[in-house]
This record gives sequence, structure tokens and C-alpha cells, in this order.
Amino acid sequence: MKFIKLSARLIAGLFVVMNMLCASSVLLTAQTSTGANLKVYFVDVEGGQSTLFVTPAGQSLLIDTGTPGNRDADRIAAAAKLAGLSKIDYVLITHYHADHVGGVPPLVARIPVGTFIDHGPNREFDDKSTVQGYAEYQKVLAAGNSKHIVARPGDVLPILGMNVKVISADGNFIPNALPGAGQPNQYCASSEVRAADQTENARSLGTEITFGKLKILDLGDLTWDKEMQLMCPVNKIGNVDIYIVSHHGLFQSSSPALVDAIHARVAIMDNGAKKGGSVPTLQTLATAPGLETLWQLHFSEDGGMHNNTPEKYIANLQGPDTGNYIELVAAPDGSFEVVNSRTGFTQKYATTR
Ligand SMILES: [Zn+2]
Repeated sequence: MKFIKLSARLIAGLFVVMNMLCASSVLLTAQTSTGANLKVYFVDVEGGQSTLFVTPAGQSLLIDTGTPGNRDADRIAAAAKLAGLSKIDYVLITHYHADHVGGVPPLVARIPVGTFIDHGPNREFDDKSTVQGYAEYQKVLAAGNSKHIVARPGDVLPILGMNVKVISADGNFIPNALPGAGQPNQYCASSEVRAADQTENARSLGTEITFGKLKILDLGDLTWDKEMQLMCPVNKIGNVDIYIVSHHGLFQSSSPALVDAIHARVAIMDNGAKKGGSVPTLQTLATAPGLETLWQLHFSEDGGMHNNTPEKYIANLQGPDTGNYIELVAAPDGSFEVVNSRTGFTQKYATTR
């Protein structure tokens, strides 16, 4: 009898604990549905790069700042406002070409920046706009309103709410494969060997961003020859979910050794109407294993009627410049959706992990 009484008490106790667990899981669900997502805005800077990440912790990372002048800085500031930001915590400059670093001075005139991250000194001295863009950026750093980090391959950047791992910087790479990667890369054989790029493109500060189960790859304008160094003979990256198409979709990047091997589900291309979206690159993406959708910031004039992605996946069609953006909203379970701001069209992608 004593044993039965004890059991009854135990069962009652368990019931209370179960109720408490249920209550806390309701709370967790509520938190998830109100703001546990990562938001990424692909700002239209007309064939440059500017990609704004906002974590559930409220931290923000902007990868590149578009070109000099008001247009791109205004668009980035508008995206920041849309995301509810009064400051951008981190601005990562992939390299010092004008379509990436050029927007720094007008941007800091509009919104404070906590920390700039880059690959170290400029390495390209014979291009006037690059030298000037770097000099203007140095002036902003010297003003002392922001901190500065020089990133190296293998570093994990101190951004809360997502894991940002440096893959490439200043022409160097992670020495070893990422966890779970490192398999022989069968696509090296179908990628032609190209001469080494001597510009800042090859120095691009590239990152893999992991949010929950979702992986996003951004290698800036990293060139074909460098992709081959990174991806051959073994695939050091493994699979990713989202490929931010390198170099605006120009055929100087996106070798099969990279694009076919990473098995991305979605590719997002920050091309302009007249820059990027090269036909061979669009064709590589069209046949990339595992790729469900290519999204483009612009209709590519090079791509013409036959090689562009379907219109519903293009933020800016031919015609007047309206600066529509693409938005990605990702949940920690690996599911995500992509929104075309031109139409509100949304495509949902269920988790596969
Ligand atoms: Zn570029």
C-alpha cells in the first residue's frame, strides 16, 4: 500500500512537471513566431553588392555598401529603416572596388556603423577608382567613430545570433575543410583552368553564414582561379542552402567547381541591368545540381529572353529604375522564404534537414 501511495504521489508530481514543460513550450513557440527569424535584404545597388542581415538578437551585418553617391546609400538606409535599425553593427567590405566600398562615406552620413570588417590593405594600385575608394574608406576609419577588424580565414566574426565564418581573405583560404565537408570534388574536371586574377576581386573577404540549420555562402567577387584553389581537389565548403552569386553573375566567377559542388537550393544574384548575369553563368546556374530557384535583382540584358530566370523571380524588370529589393526570411529549422518586393510574390522553401 505504501508503495502505491508513493507512486500516486510520483505520478501527481510528474503531471505538474509535464504541465510546466507544456507551458514553457507554448512560450517558446510564441517567441519563435514573433521574431526568431533571420532577415536578409538584397539591396539593389545596380550591379554592385549590398546585403543586409538582421538577426533575431537585433544585430545587423551589412556586406558591402554599393557605389559612391546618394542613390545606393539612400537605398541601404531605407532597408535599415525597414528592418527597424538605428545603427548598423557591422559593415563587412569584401574588397575595395568602387561597387563595394564606394558607398561607405555617404552611408556613415546617414546611419552610424559600429564596426568595419575588411581583408586588410588595398592590393590594387593601378586602378584610380579603387585607390580613391580605399582612401575615402580610410578617412572614415580615421574619424574614429567605428571600430575596425581585419579578418583572416578561419575567424568567426563576433556577430550575435548567427555564425559568420571567414572562408577567404586577401587571397588566402581556410586551410582545412569545414565540418562535414572535404569530399573529392568531381566538378573540378569540368572547370577550365584560368590565369590568376591580379585585382582586388581575388582578395575578396568571403564568408559562410550559418543560422540554425541554414547555410549561406557569400564570396564577394572572388574569381574563378581562386574558386578552383578553394574547391579543388576537395570541396572544402560542402553543401549550402543559399549561394549569393559571386561577382554579380559575371563569367569571371561561378566555376562549376564551385557552383555545382555546393549544391545550393537557391541562388540570389546581385546583378544590374547591364552588369553581371552573363549568359554562361546563367547557364551554369540553370543546370546546377540541386538548384531550385535563381533569383535576380535585375533582368540581365546579356541574358536576353532565353537565359534570365522567370520574371516572378526578378526584382527589377527592364524599364525605369525603381530599386526593388529581394528579401529572405529564414527560420532556425532551415526553412525559409524569399520575397520579391516588386510584386510581393513569395516563395516558401521547406526545411530539408
Ligand atoms: Zn563587384
